[in-house]
Amino acid sequence: MPVKNRKVALMGFRAVGKSSLTIQFVENHFVDSYDPTIENTFQKSVSYKGQDYLINVVDTAGQDEYSIFPRSYTVDVDGYLLVYSVTSMKSFDTVKVIRDKLLDQSGTTNIPLVLVGNKTDLHMQRVISTEMGKKLAADWKASFVECSAKQNEGVEEIFQKILQQVEQVQGNDPES
Ligand code: GDP
Ligand code: MG
Repeated sequence: MPVKNRKVALMGFRAVGKSSLTIQFVENHFVDSYDPTIENTFQKSVSYKGQDYLINVVDTAGQDEYSIFPRSYTVDVDGYLLVYSVTSMKSFDTVKVIRDKLLDQSGTTNIPLVLVGNKTDLHMQRVISTEMGKKLAADWKASFVECSAKQNEGVEEIFQKILQQVEQVQGNDPES
């Protein structure tokens, strides 16, 4: 089977760990400081259900409730990872605003999407419970993953889930 190309964008408030997750996924290490203004695309080959994929990972510079999205965010992006930090209520509120804008701009209600709660290693600073994340994702009919880019927990799972979502929405996944 030929390799499938899929483009996945990470979006979310600043400092939630979008770049750390991207680097952990693509290069298998944790970067402690990464230029927050850089927007970069990375590539990684993965296999999902026996199919080889080349994932183009777009690490955006981050959004807030006032951001105006360039059209490039909704053109040829197959799926979105909406990332918040479990230590930040503001970042949790921001993913809701981002999703609304994506729905508006794309003109569809069926966007492949994974809600990602990062920084689970920061137990003492947690303000968003697992249940809150789960509930929001269920409201959206999206997938949900909690993870730690720092400890490399849940990172692979995020990308398996987004491929699952993409295949489901694009109608290529007979099992779901
Ligand atoms: P971005 O602005 O969303 O791209 O966020 P970065 O990836 O630049 O991360 C912002 C800060 O959070 C940096 O200091 C990272 O080292 C830190 N960070 C990212 N992910 C984690 C994590 O899973 N756990 C902890 N403790 N810190 C993290
Ligand atoms: Mg970044």
